Amino acid sequence: MKLLEGKRAAIFGVANDRSIAWAISEAFHAEGAELAFTYAGEILEKRVRPLAEGIGSKIILPCDVTKDEEVEKVFATLKQEWGGLDILVHAIAFANKEDLSNPYAQTSRAGFHLAMDVSAYSLVALAQRAAPLMEERNGSIVTLTYMGSEKVIPNYNVMGVAKAALEASVRYLAHDLGPKGIRVNAISAGPLRTLAAAGISDFKSMLHHVAERAPLKRNIGAEEVGKTALYLCSDWGSAVTGEVVHVDAGYNIMGM
Ligand code: NAD
Repeated sequence: MKLLEGKRAAIFGVANDRSIAWAISEAFHAEGAELAFTYAGEILEKRVRPLAEGIGSKIILPCDVTKDEEVEKVFATLKQEWGGLDILVHAIAFANKEDLSNPYAQTSRAGFHLAMDVSAYSLVALAQRAAPLMEERNGSIVTLTYMGSEKVIPNYNVMGVAKAALEASVRYLAHDLGPKGIRVNAISAGPLRTLAAAGISDFKSMLHHVAERAPLKRNIGAEEVGKTALYLCSDWGSAVTGEVVHVDAGYNIMGM
């Protein structure tokens, strides 16, 4: 029997076939899960719909996480079509371009709020609506974070602060939802060339730096994040909650 046979997963955060959420979707699909997808806006729908349909998905919905009505509609549809939910993948982040290149000290109030809303609060917004659908099903929620939450990574700036809030949210959500058997974890991925990464100034040098200094002497592949998500969202991770699992070729352990 496949690892996720009979499981239903809602995937938030596919923009294209380079998205980390897509690598996770492929891993889940290969292990027998049925998937629902959301996309942020019409332009991305053109990318997401063919990918989702290609693996047999029937639920493909718009969802800008800053709009409560769109979030509500997604979970109402999941309840109606599936009756419940086993897995939620949150792979969403956004900050204004200038906030990912200017010094952090220059972050505007509006830029700070936007990054926090889209990149951190959205996990809370999704988890609070997913939880009632996950009861009695050993539900699992997984989000994506980055080491810029723990240490200063030049240019990551406000996104590092948002990821710190996201990781703290993982722990508080794990505490609140644990009694219902729902697990909440984060994967801290090493740098990967994606649409979101293109917004970070001098991203290329992050890749070089990791390949030079990480214990494994290389960068990671998105499919390696997919495999860890599979572990966290299947029975293999049944006693793991509130964790931040690094999938970064070991880069985070280095001091010098
Ligand atoms: P990506 O651009 O493929 O995915 C980011 C997603 O966020 C997109 O699908 C985009 O539509 C979505 N999004 C942005 N604003 C949104 C909104 N208002 N409502 C709904 N969706 C919105 O890039 P990715 O690298 O796959 O990013 C996925 C996650 O992984 C992010 O949380 C990112 O911070 C994290 N991450 C990325 C890296 C990396 O190096 N690429 C490393 C560690 C963590």
